[in-house]
Amino acid sequence: MALLTVRVSGDGVERCPSCGNNTQFVAKSMQSCEDSCEVWVECQCGYDPTADVVGSRFECVWGTLDKDNVEACLSSWNDLIQLNSKQQM
Ligand SMILES: [Zn+2]
Repeated sequence: MALLTVRVSGDGVERCPSCGNNTQFVAKSMQSCEDSCEVWVECQCGYDPTADVVGSRFECVWGTLDKDNVEACLSSWNDLIQLNSKQQM
């Protein structure tokens, strides 16, 4: 599994429901099957909104943690946080 610490400006990024952080994340990459990898971001505190949601991780062949992939992951982070907060209302 590959790890990359990501610092972002926080503009347009949802806050972690656990610790309120929206600027420091850990991007992770893990091989999910023979020819594909899953890439996703977790909060610096370890909160991972993709953990319970099948299909919410970004799939790509090499699992590289480049800018485009990290941005795609942050976009699904936003979707999942918004979804979670709606479910709690
Ligand atoms: Zn957090």
